[in-house]
Amino acid sequence: MRIADIFKEKRPISFEIFPPKGELSMDSFRQTLDALAKLSPDFISVTCSAGGSGGRDRTAALAGIVRREFGIESCAHLTCINSDQATLTEDINRIHENGVENVLALRGDIIPGAHTGTFHHAVELMDKLKGEGLCLGGACYPEGHIECSDPQEDLRHLYEKQQAGAEFFVTQLFFDNACFYKFMDRARQIGITIPVTAGIMPILSKAQIERMIFTCGASLPSAIIRILNRYENDAESLRKAGIDYAAAQIRDLRQNGADGVHIYTMNRPGIATEILKGMQ
Ligand code: FAD
Repeated sequence: MRIADIFKEKRPISFEIFPPKGELSMDSFRQTLDALAKLSPDFISVTCSAGGSGGRDRTAALAGIVRREFGIESCAHLTCINSDQATLTEDINRIHENGVENVLALRGDIIPGAHTGTFHHAVELMDKLKGEGLCLGGACYPEGHIECSDPQEDLRHLYEKQQAGAEFFVTQLFFDNACFYKFMDRARQIGITIPVTAGIMPILSKAQIERMIFTCGASLPSAIIRILNRYENDAESLRKAGIDYAAAQIRDLRQNGADGVHIYTMNRPGIATEILKGMQ
């Protein structure tokens, strides 16, 4: 089913997973999927490595498994920054071979000195994917993309992705719902009409948060800073407070009419379970 059609029926709760790393066997990965599937998400998206080093070819295969074996609609992430037409054709063939209907079309992060592809922006990938019969999604950034100093310009580029065929957007993680609401107002004002689902990642550790702020520039509301300070030396309480915070964020988003919520599960079904329980 096309994810755009899911949004027509409901405000989906969906999950993000990443392909297993290193030696983790497909058997244990299937156990992860089994546990996530029991939570009945409306779809599961599978991330893709932009670096071109290992694992990239697994995204479409895993998205196919999610659909065929677990009966959950899936979405394969696809990056283009290190691709050329030949590698893109291989990626598209894999997507079709695995029966995947939905693609989150992304640029991928630029690793300085490692840009090897012919594409520069996600919008170019969307142009290339036109005519493939796929339902396309794109990424968006409630607090602005980290490379773009002008939020209006960032929004204009987002609008271009809608014009290029995106049928839904998934946001970067954020901790402050007010940022999301302001972003949505500005997005609707400039003519972005497609559904935007809110990406939520629970805080689990101080190190994780530091990494997130550095890589995506998410701002930290004082409630999060208080949690981090209070439970600095108590990992379990920090984890629990992080899950409670995410659940409260989701409750607020749903009460305020967000089109959907996409939970970054980090392949940890226990965390997704606790968040869903907490948001009831
Ligand atoms: P773009 O839409 O190309 O935007 C990137 C920057 O370029 C922005 O600053 C934008 O304003 C600017 N821009 C866009 N179009 C133009 C233009 N025509 N001219 C000039 N400037 C322009 N990365 C992975 O490697 N694998 C993943 O699986 C993955 N999944 C993600 C899922 C989500 C929901 C999100 C939010 C991000 C994900 N990322 C992933 C990270 C993503 O690849 C990075 O955030 C990347 O830096 C930007 O990707 P994009 O598709 O938004 O790029």
